[in-house]
Order: sequence, then structure tokens, then C-alpha cells
Amino acid sequence: MSQHTPCSVSRMDGYHLVGCRKPAKVERAGRHYCTIHDPVRVAEKDKARSDKWEAERIQQRKKWAMEAAAPDLLEALKELRQSISIGSSEYGEELSRDVHPETAQKADRAIAKAEGR
Ligand SMILES: [Zn+2]
Repeated sequence: MSQHTPCSVSRMDGYHLVGCRKPAKVERAGRHYCTIHDPVRVAEKDKARSDKWEAERIQQRKKWAMEAAAPDLLEALKELRQSISIGSSEYGEELSRDVHPETAQKADRAIAKAEGR
């Protein structure tokens, strides 16, 4: 392939067939392509784009699942939180045995966050 071999890709511009004016850089199955029209590169870019869309779709589905489950999660967490509280004294809240105070605080923060407080 000489330095001036043109890219073999053409496109329709209205009623005219217009050839790509870029110099060919690669040869694939006997045809010459510039770096933009190289079918291997085009396929790689298409795959990268569809992989990205697929990843975004999976992420979006997870987000919707979490949103759908949120009311049930909140209700269950509130019930659990209530069940670990024995009561309160002047020293603060008394928790059931085997409950770490940090766990109760974590639950309180999550409930407040879910309720927009
Ligand atoms: Zn081209």
C-alpha cells in the first residue's frame, strides 16, 4: 500500500457517491481503509459502546430494584430497630443484649436518611 492509497469507503451524499479522502492505513481482505473506516477499529468501538450501554442498563436495573424494595426495607428495619430497644433511661437508650450500640446508630441514620431527615 503506497502512502497515497485512498480509503476505499464511499458514502452517498444526496445523489452523489463520495469517496473518503483520507489516506488508507490498513488493508483488510484486499480493501484499504483509513484509521476512521478500519472495520476492525469500527467493530471495537461499536463493542465498547454496546458494552457501556449494557453496563448502564444493568446499573439502572439495580437502581430500580433498590427503589422498588426501599419501602419494604425501611419498614422491616424500623420493626427490627424497635425490637432491639428495651427502653430509655436518664443515661440514654437501653438496647437488648448482644446488640452493638453502633449497629443501632447505623440503623437510626439509615432510617433518617430514607425519611429525608
Ligand atoms: Zn476512510
